Amino acid sequence: MKKKQTVIILGSGFGGLAAAALLAKDGYQVTVLEKNEQPGGRASSLESDGFRFDMGPSWYMMPDVFEKYFAEFGKKPSDFYKLTHLLPQYRVFFGDQTHIDVTGNLKTDKATFESLERGSALNLDRYLAESKVKYETSMNSILYRNMNSLLDLFTPAMAKKSAQLGVFQPMHQYVSRFFHHPKLQQLLEYNLVFLGCSPKNAPSLFSLMTHVDLNLGVWYPEGGISAVVNAVVKLGTQYGVTYVYNASLRLLQTKKHTQLTLLSPMRIIVLQKIFYQINHCAHTLEILGGRK
Ligand SMILES: Cc1cc2nc3c(=O)[nH]c(=O)nc-3n(C[C@H](O)[C@H](O)[C@H](O)COP(=O)(O)OP(=O)(O)OC[C@H]3O[C@@H](n4cnc5c(N)ncnc54)[C@H](O)[C@@H]3O)c2cc1C
Repeated sequence: MKKKQTVIILGSGFGGLAAAALLAKDGYQVTVLEKNEQPGGRASSLESDGFRFDMGPSWYMMPDVFEKYFAEFGKKPSDFYKLTHLLPQYRVFFGDQTHIDVTGNLKTDKATFESLERGSALNLDRYLAESKVKYETSMNSILYRNMNSLLDLFTPAMAKKSAQLGVFQPMHQYVSRFFHHPKLQQLLEYNLVFLGCSPKNAPSLFSLMTHVDLNLGVWYPEGGISAVVNAVVKLGTQYGVTYVYNASLRLLQTKKHTQLTLLSPMRIIVLQKIFYQINHCAHTLEILGGRK
């Protein structure tokens, strides 16, 4: 019998977990190494005194992406968790003790914008139209395409689209073209917290999130986001993925050798393929030889 190829995945955030189950389904022998004591990464949870808190994400967005993912395994999200469409969607609190409710009803939300800045309801329509184009272009031209090298990304077609996608303009500059009221700007820029970026640096491509938010809607999975984490872990387990927690991997460089060292209960691992799935900058630097 042909020996299965081994894949080691570093990090059990959504990216690592999702890749692990897919690779295991494709016949690889997959091990996920996670430095924390639980899966989920930024989507991990904290339990205390009978309460459970989502530590990062709490909104379930772009449900079609999850449907497409689970369909790869002949499953549906509802096989694992129950979703509730949030209406109203959420409340944003400002430092001056005021708040804005984002209702999920565009007419009402436009009225809220207009109450803070004259003409902003119309500008929101324009902003949303551009946001939709960015979302659809990103989904079709980037997200669901294999990128085996940078050349796959920097195609003539992508170069043409990049100006339209807003990859060269900072988010805050872009938002300021449409809205002057600081609260409206904050409302449209807050979602950069998902990426840990400042609106002054992040490309305005991420204004696509407003289409996701205001046009497509927000859901809540019963049991919180960890219900989704558990679902993907369960899926991986069914296909034989091994998950190792409290396992941190470091790259040690000496003059002669570059060596991967696993700080975990597992002593030796033969690494045929390493699937690097850690996108937190500090951890990345740590892995690349401890530079800070
Ligand atoms: C506060 C906050 C709120 C958010 N809210 C939402 C939301 O409501 N909705 C939404 O869709 N998205 C939200 N996001 C974004 C979403 O959480 C992230 O995009 C997603 O969880 C990232 O997953 P990931 O797998 O790419 O990375 P991560 O979740 O960061 O996973 C990386 C994993 O690698 C592990 N790791 C790091 N170094 C090592 C090492 N040396 N060895 C082994 N393992 C290692 C880490 O412990 C971690 O588990 C939010 C993000 C934040 C921070």
